[in-house]
Amino acid sequence: MEKKIHLLGLLCLLALPGCEHTSVAQKPKNIIFVIVDGMGPEQVKAGRVFLGNKPLSFEQFPYQSTVTTHNIDGEVTDSAAAATAMATGQKVKNRAISPGKTLLEYFKDEGKSTGIVTNTLLTDATPAAFAAHAQFRSDTQDILKSYLEQTQPNLIAGADEPEYLAQVKASKANYQVVRSGTELRQLVRDIQSGQKIDHVYAGFGMHPLIPGHYDRKTAMPLAVTTDPYFAGQDLPKISQTAEAALDILSQNSNGFFLMIESGLVDWIGHKNSELENANEALAEEMAETDRMVQKITAWTKSHPDTLLIVTADHETGGLKIDDQKTSCLGQAGCVPSAQWTSGFYPIYTEKYSMHTGVDVGVYATGPGAEAFAKPMDNTEFLVKILRQ
Ligand SMILES: [Zn+2]
Repeated sequence: MEKKIHLLGLLCLLALPGCEHTSVAQKPKNIIFVIVDGMGPEQVKAGRVFLGNKPLSFEQFPYQSTVTTHNIDGEVTDSAAAATAMATGQKVKNRAISPGKTLLEYFKDEGKSTGIVTNTLLTDATPAAFAAHAQFRSDTQDILKSYLEQTQPNLIAGADEPEYLAQVKASKANYQVVRSGTELRQLVRDIQSGQKIDHVYAGFGMHPLIPGHYDRKTAMPLAVTTDPYFAGQDLPKISQTAEAALDILSQNSNGFFLMIESGLVDWIGHKNSELENANEALAEEMAETDRMVQKITAWTKSHPDTLLIVTADHETGGLKIDDQKTSCLGQAGCVPSAQWTSGFYPIYTEKYSMHTGVDVGVYATGPGAEAFAKPMDNTEFLVKILRQ
């Protein structure tokens, strides 16, 4: 508590944004921070069209605004610089991972449980910036080491295939390791029947970005791999992992901080030119993200002392939806007609669409959510969340 006052006092002396109000709202016990990687306003609209032109669940949250996302040089951000800004309140160059103390570490120091969940690689830039310190996002061995030896979140969940021996290392660091949706569900049943499990490493094997591991039609990770190293191989959807995370982290009576990255929206945006039906994949992934938010919102009904924030790090692909050409508008399952306009950069032989600098949305509900009613910069999340 004392630490928090010092921090805010210091930030306010520096006249950073977010210091104009000093009234303290009711302090939330649990904080859930959802980052939909690559979700600009048009991606939200794609989800809405797919649901029959109905608002997504987070579009019905009581407090909403927009967020600027540029990096320290004023350039279009990558996921590392954006997540670093959100997690630490500091602007950095692209590729850098959290040189300063992160939200997750502040809440750990307050005695809360902490967790990071993603449906892409668990050492990817977004979770890394919340739970690791490293020079670059590509230093994935350093990021994993930082998770397991330095910040030690109570839950680490995502794809882990390229990290050789990650599961062995997690086990040595006293994490209970689960490797599939089946094992994750069993672990949740164990917790529900009274078993206490402090540290969970859920490494689901496949990295959805690896060619041959995703269905080119749906853009979803293939449910089955032939690689015998990965037993089980039912890669849970992000809504399922998020729901399990609530059971795992709420074992702590002091509450928890949970960062969830819905990461495939970014990936579909990058790879839209290679996918057979990128628009359909995007719409379905937005619907899956909405399903996850609905499950969390349902859980907060019995846990009203929870601040739930949904936002994005940047937009990916320069998506533009064409209402005139979308003939199914108003029908459930409607895939919007759309163009991807951001241009390409090459990685080896593949073409990737770029991020754009368009402002993203922020949607908040629960105690403290009123702090997210006005346009803000991505560096303001830390102050707005910590002062609750
Ligand atoms: Zn990206």
